[in-house]
Amino acid sequence: MKLWEDMLDFVFPPHCPVCDAYVESRGGWCEDCLRKTLCVTRLPLSAGAMNFLDEVWTLGRYHGGLSHLIRALKYQRKRDRLPYLQRFLEAAKPQLTDFLRLRRLAVPVPLHPRREKERGFNQAELIFKEWLADCGIPTERLLVRARETEPQYGLDAKARARNMRDAFAIAAGVDVQGKELLLVDDIFTTGATMLECAKVLKKHGAKKVDALTLASDHRVK
Ligand SMILES: [Zn+2]
Repeated sequence: MKLWEDMLDFVFPPHCPVCDAYVESRGGWCEDCLRKTLCVTRLPLSAGAMNFLDEVWTLGRYHGGLSHLIRALKYQRKRDRLPYLQRFLEAAKPQLTDFLRLRRLAVPVPLHPRREKERGFNQAELIFKEWLADCGIPTERLLVRARETEPQYGLDAKARARNMRDAFAIAAGVDVQGKELLLVDDIFTTGATMLECAKVLKKHGAKKVDALTLASDHRVK
């Protein structure tokens, strides 16, 4: 296996996913691009959103390299982009020590079963599950899509909120009463999706709902 990897590195040298500079190992970013993309931030929430969501953290800016990686994974099903995202999570980890130390259960934002079947995976789960497990946080599918929704892309904030209304439900046989949960998703734009998920969890008695998203470009309205 090592020999194969060495040969692969020789024929196709690993390079930064953003600027193409050669890097030491597959999945690696050059220091400059990593520094520019990594932006671990606690997002400010509106008073309305704070009724349901506790802390929301994002790891990077949703533009350039990171947005290309996420889109390639989601829409072109290019799983070879995953190592770059996993390396990105690792780079963000030291800045999230306190947040990750809290014992919680992670909940990926669910896709409609039809969409997940087409895609072959739930990207939030695929991106975060292994890394969270390493941090001592197990992932469980506690939510399901109650109905199909339009893609959020291209909709304004009001239309996004409307589109997501009642889109989620607690999975059959699940009890979230008194639990501390961590919602995970790939992108946080207006927050409509996360907020709707958090509402369902809180209404069913969850004690605390935090959220973690790989990339964001907006604040919660
Ligand atoms: Zn670079």
